[in-house]
Amino acid sequence: MNADKLSKRLERVADFVPKGSKTADIGSDHAYLPCYLVKKDVIPFAIAGEVAEGPFQSAAGQVLAEGLVEQVSVRKGDGLDVLNPGEAECITIAGMGGALIASILERGKDKLDNVKRLILQPNVSAISIREWFMENGWELVEEDILEEDGKIYEVLVGEKGDPSLPYKDMQNKGLLFGPFLMKKVNEAFKKKWALEKDNWEKILSQLEKAAQTEETLRKKQELQQKIKWAEEVL
Ligand code: SAM
Repeated sequence: MNADKLSKRLERVADFVPKGSKTADIGSDHAYLPCYLVKKDVIPFAIAGEVAEGPFQSAAGQVLAEGLVEQVSVRKGDGLDVLNPGEAECITIAGMGGALIASILERGKDKLDNVKRLILQPNVSAISIREWFMENGWELVEEDILEEDGKIYEVLVGEKGDPSLPYKDMQNKGLLFGPFLMKKVNEAFKKKWALEKDNWEKILSQLEKAAQTEETLRKKQELQQKIKWAEEVL
């Protein structure tokens, strides 16, 4: 992967960036995504934010090597702290857990006023992002799921709007599986949830053997519900 040829995962994130929108890539590491977007003339200007020194240096070096110092501003800081209010119209956050992405958004809420689109690629726990959208007035407008090098990745796109609109009568199930992904049911989706279902079934059979406390019963019910949902969506 480099700034001319992204991984399939980051290419999918890039596909969702609206043409011409000032974009901040948070947790940018090598800064391949912002460099790619500028080089392909998708956007005129990007911010690459990084909290850790090594990745920050890597991003700065990449931008320098590409001759993009005027178009890609590399900034060191935690989450959305690197942004001035109103500066970004689109934010991408990729390659982290969903809970961390949601916590970055939560802590940086005051920087989201002018942001029109969030493009988020959680490695795990996409549900944390769907829940954050639901609680904070962001409507999930598109989703994708793909497999690359044996790993499965989800990409979620949010815009300000009616958070409950994509879910209709299936809120809890939709929050777990993704309302758009449940309609597409592609190979990556089938593989992910077949594996999760296997795992839930193993945990359930272990719980059957354990002492039946109130907590065990609650966990069993939760797993049975999720297994039932998985059977419905697959
Ligand atoms: N976004 C790139 C990608 O998808 O290939 C890099 C992903 S890398 C696994 C995650 C990066 O996020 C690391 O470089 C890490 O230092 C950075 N990171 C983690 N928490 C962060 C935070 N709160 N603010 C900014 N960067 C963060």
